[in-house]
Amino acid sequence: MRKIKVGIEGNGTVRIKLKKKINVTSADISGTGKPSISDKVFEGFSLPFSIINQMEIRVESVFRPKQQDFEVVYALSGQNWIVDQLHKLSSNEVVAQATPEMVSYYTGMMAEQIYQERSNEPRLIIHVHSHPYAPPMLSGIDRDSMAGNARRMKDRFPEATVIFGIHSVSSEQRRQRIPPKKSFKNLISWSSITRVHEVAFFDEFEKPVEVRLGE
Ligand SMILES: [Zn+2]
Repeated sequence: MRKIKVGIEGNGTVRIKLKKKINVTSADISGTGKPSISDKVFEGFSLPFSIINQMEIRVESVFRPKQQDFEVVYALSGQNWIVDQLHKLSSNEVVAQATPEMVSYYTGMMAEQIYQERSNEPRLIIHVHSHPYAPPMLSGIDRDSMAGNARRMKDRFPEATVIFGIHSVSSEQRRQRIPPKKSFKNLISWSSITRVHEVAFFDEFEKPVEVRLGE
């Protein structure tokens, strides 16, 4: 069954979230021999510079001449508290619709693609979407959808810690490259030669999640 939720933003934009239930046959994903991180106290995660570079490319690649950037969705994953992979999720299977103001997606299919790309069950999943020309703050729709998205991701990966990232990207103009730095405990920022990037991380309850650079 497919439920459709429609929300109206302050500027009159209609945002539609399609929720598609994906039935998954159980697979043997246990026995990896790695310790579970779900027992430990979660105190943030590490984000390597190589992954930040991929995040920059993923978000800037939507550029089209004389057109506004679209919102994009992608995911980061890891076995422990360290991100080791970026999942582009740039396919019709995952993304239902994208405009400069919104992106709608199928969380169940997102989980499937993450599993296929990793070939194992991630213990850390960071669900990221971009905010073109807007700050890295949770919108009303973001707040309303986080708990449901986390639940659907945990339906597939019960052991995983699910985090949300808001990737803000500025308009395009030539500027000085500034390497990534931590601006606040849950916020990183940097500049490419054309865009300012800021990414903020939250848990499903909208609480800031600490990010560490490097590793
Ligand atoms: Zn948002």
